[in-house]
Amino acid sequence: MSRIRFDILTLFPDMVDAVLNESIVGRARSAGILDVRCHNIRDYSKDRLRRVDDTPYGGGKGMLMKPEVIVDCFEAVTADAAEKPHTVYLSPKGRVFDENKARELARLPRLVLLCGHYEGVDQRALDAVVDEEISIGDYVLTGGELPAAVLVDAVSRLVDGVLADPECYEKESHSDLLLEYPQYTRPAVFRGEAVPEVLLSGHHEKIDAWRLEQSLAITRQNRPDLYEAYLALHPPVEKKKKRKKKSEGEKV
Ligand code: SAM
Repeated sequence: MSRIRFDILTLFPDMVDAVLNESIVGRARSAGILDVRCHNIRDYSKDRLRRVDDTPYGGGKGMLMKPEVIVDCFEAVTADAAEKPHTVYLSPKGRVFDENKARELARLPRLVLLCGHYEGVDQRALDAVVDEEISIGDYVLTGGELPAAVLVDAVSRLVDGVLADPECYEKESHSDLLLEYPQYTRPAVFRGEAVPEVLLSGHHEKIDAWRLEQSLAITRQNRPDLYEAYLALHPPVEKKKKRKKKSEGEKV
């Protein structure tokens, strides 16, 4: 059973902890499979009023998080590490998070996540401690706490022992470019709507074929970019045959 440690540097540790104390991630934390520690950046303020932000040089609206509180917090939290842990700044300017990135991060033993707030963070703090910036989507949130919780959740479910059965994530949306097919449970008829008959047939080949067809249709409709990528890797069999016939024809 592997174990991963997350250190989350934030001004709102209770907000992150509350999300990550529930459900599957919460249970994995209690079982000691995940080690999630939230650290309050404000505790590292040397200011009499525990201030952590200031106005930006050059003008502009809003406040920026000061570099010294972040670097002091980072250094205290990582003082016990033999090597500098991989450090991520959650930021709308970062590369957009996806399942491949989650898989890559799940292989690491330890991760530090820096959550910004207000207008963001002084660039010198980022230059000093951050290895990469990750965004959870093309929109702007008020802080990095929810993005950090999203990242921890997505990475954690790929860690051995967090989910009861690894097949749960091996056959899921984004595991192989295709989005998941529709799923049904009991009752067989709900408000007049019956479960597709093939799913009650017990015929596994037919069920697999139906699921693939549904996945292809949903991916094509909702994510044409993924659909094209899937087709490039798995060209449809008929097309191959047609091409063969044409080239055979040309030879004659
Ligand atoms: N001024 C910044 C900009 O234009 O890029 C936005 C700052 S935002 C209001 C405050 C903090 O929320 C950021 O420092 C970051 O940590 C977090 N944040 C906001 N949107 C995010 C997103 N899409 N992904 C990851 N973090 C985000």
